[in-house]
Amino acid sequence: MKKKYLMTPGPTPVPPEVLLTQARPIIHHRTPEFDQVVQNCVEGLKYVFQTEKSDVLIFACSGSGVMESSVVNCFCAGDEILIAINGKFGQRMELIAKAYGLEVSVLEYGWQEVVNPLDIAEYLEKHPSTRGVVVTQSETSSGVLNNIEVVGDIVKGYPECIFIVDSITGIGAVDCKTDEWGLDVVMTGSQKGLMLPPGLAAVSVSPKAWAASERSTLPKFYFDWKKYLKSLAQNTTPFTPAVSLMIGLDASLKMMREEGMENVIARHARLAEATRQGVVALGLELFAPAEGRGNAVTPVWVPEGIDGKQLVKIMKTKHGVTIAGGQDDYAGRIIRIGHLGYFDDLDIIVTLAALEMALLELEFDFEPGSGVKAAEAVLMGVKS
Ligand SMILES: *Cc1c(COP(=O)(O)O)cnc(C)c1O
Repeated sequence: MKKKYLMTPGPTPVPPEVLLTQARPIIHHRTPEFDQVVQNCVEGLKYVFQTEKSDVLIFACSGSGVMESSVVNCFCAGDEILIAINGKFGQRMELIAKAYGLEVSVLEYGWQEVVNPLDIAEYLEKHPSTRGVVVTQSETSSGVLNNIEVVGDIVKGYPECIFIVDSITGIGAVDCKTDEWGLDVVMTGSQKGLMLPPGLAAVSVSPKAWAASERSTLPKFYFDWKKYLKSLAQNTTPFTPAVSLMIGLDASLKMMREEGMENVIARHARLAEATRQGVVALGLELFAPAEGRGNAVTPVWVPEGIDGKQLVKIMKTKHGVTIAGGQDDYAGRIIRIGHLGYFDDLDIIVTLAALEMALLELEFDFEPGSGVKAAEAVLMGVKS
């Protein structure tokens, strides 16, 4: 027997009480019973997205589906939009927007850089006809946290331009104040901070984004936001929803509400800090820059002379701990430890202990126990 620990930034572990809800017999979706579930989910998501002004729509799809929905609902072919890219998911938005014939301008950054809001301000000054700005709040590929609050403030000054935020690993891990920061479209997915299996995605739509959708002529059917809004007035969905996942979402949102959003975010900040201090104490180097480290995932450089893929493999096969490797250029060169969603202090200790044992096996030179010790100090509130 080997006990398994899922320490990736998506999919993430699901609490047992949420898993159990999904073992229940399926109920029909056109019933008062299920209408109540829809209503609870929408209210719970509004709480998590910190919005009263925006509508929140839920789809049966992965995160990329909701990204596509934001493009087809807000724009026309030929619309000019700006995408700030510092990782794989910003790149995906570019691919989707180009697939629909948008005129895409890109502010390209390295994966170890944060998006500079001043670059966006400068771009908009020169291109005032821009219809949309897209930023990934938490870049899962690099662990970089971008400052969407400042970007929101800039985009507010352009009445024809909406601000789209990929917060798929932001929501639930870091603060995301949809109304206060002027975020017009915010997206998340079930298998990240919402503590659910993959299969659901949600988007918040501000009045400004609804206005943009009025002029959109791109083709859409399944992802037509207006269909979902119309159904929501009756607490229902236009198509067959992912019934079990929605019942699970109702349960996981109740857990988040009970904990309180501030505490949820504070827990993620604590776990991220413990992970960072732990790996640094082992003599490893953090990948994300000090000015933009998120709480969802901690990417770490694989030290010289160590095979990163081997490291991930040993942790999984010998110790039952699954972490993520690097993507694209960073495959084999970085590891990514996820701590997004259903995680607590001792999950970090387990992961660091497994990392230490794998590094020992690979004959990396460090003091055994030093990573765990440093993490414990953070978790116990001891200042280093
Ligand atoms: C996971 C993720 C997505 C969506 O990926 P799917 O595999 O389609 O769910 C998009 N953006 C970010 C930042 C993500 O972490």
